[in-house]
Amino acid sequence: SLKVGIVGLPNVGKSTLFNAITNSSVEAANYPFATIAPNVGTVMVPDSRLDLLEKLFASKKKVAATIEFVDIAGLIAGASKGEGLGNAFLSNIRETDALVQVVRCFDDKEIMHVEGSVDPIRDLEIINLELMLADEQVIQKRLQRLAPKAKGGDKSVLGEVKLLEKLQTQLNNNQLLNSLELTDEEQKMLRGFGLLTTKPLIYVANVGEADLGNEDDNAYVQKLKEYAANQGFPVVKISAKIEAELSELEATEKLLFLQEIGATQSGLDQLIQTAYELLGLKTFFTAGPQEVHSWAFVNGMTAPQCAGIIHTDFARGFIKAEIYPFAAIEQHGSEKAVKDHGQIRLEGKTYVMQDGDVCFFKFNV
Ligand code: GDP
Repeated sequence: SLKVGIVGLPNVGKSTLFNAITNSSVEAANYPFATIAPNVGTVMVPDSRLDLLEKLFASKKKVAATIEFVDIAGLIAGASKGEGLGNAFLSNIRETDALVQVVRCFDDKEIMHVEGSVDPIRDLEIINLELMLADEQVIQKRLQRLAPKAKGGDKSVLGEVKLLEKLQTQLNNNQLLNSLELTDEEQKMLRGFGLLTTKPLIYVANVGEADLGNEDDNAYVQKLKEYAANQGFPVVKISAKIEAELSELEATEKLLFLQEIGATQSGLDQLIQTAYELLGLKTFFTAGPQEVHSWAFVNGMTAPQCAGIIHTDFARGFIKAEIYPFAAIEQHGSEKAVKDHGQIRLEGKTYVMQDGDVCFFKFNV
């Protein structure tokens, strides 16, 4: 399953947001380093299409695609040198597919700020610098090992050395590695390095309760959005505190609450959706009276590869797939009607799956 790491300075609202994610009881306390153990929370990717399929098939069960969030606390200035909670946390981040950085955008005199004042850009630059320093260490180590080989005439390492030098230049220019244009081959080479700033990044602007209902962004959020737009990263505005409250409500109560604050979707759902899109994920469905299921796949995957997401045996024994677009069942109201309209297609091994495909796989076991 896909993993998204939550980072940010202490006391910006990470554990509060994480509580909303797991609805569990990680302590959100008003002092730094309250959260020590890394925690994992799995959330369902909201999709109204799955809800409609559940109705149309009168399914007994609904299962949604999921994303895993990992709460990575303790990253502060000096972490890459082993200060604060240091290096153990960096290794937690290495295992994630994308990062969410929570940035404090609310004023509250009761809640201390580790840097003494609220300043979202300064804060995120502290975290980003630590991530860049950690990457720099990785790159230096590899270069120290490979550069002498390259000099000694070992052609097999030339490509990697060239790439490492390119990455180093980027970091020396104080730029995250994810803003670098890389070829497919370079990206493949990178995969084993365990770098941090190559990961897709989302900024979460954690605003106060009062700011959420307000159409206009407060000054902190405005600055953050401007900064993020320059870097090319999305910003999701949420109030971690409200999300934590929302997560304790029943579905109908939740809707009422959202209506009251003038929102259609919770901030957490927006975050999940943004992460999903940023990772280039698409959705296909399997549907029947027993179960409707949404599955995440990476854009460009073929039908047998997607069958393999459900079960590895399905990929091996794949014969063909019966497929129709979600729009067809939405229009005609039942699978039978879709069939009567001749809209169920038979697709083979080379078919590239499309977002919204409803599938029935045929395979040999
Ligand atoms: P972490 O150290 O980043 O995990 O931060 P916490 O989630 O523990 O939050 C630190 C403090 O800020 C706690 O007392 C939270 O209740 C408070 N807090 C978090 N989000 C908000 C918010 O949106 N508004 C206000 N007023 N307080 C918040």
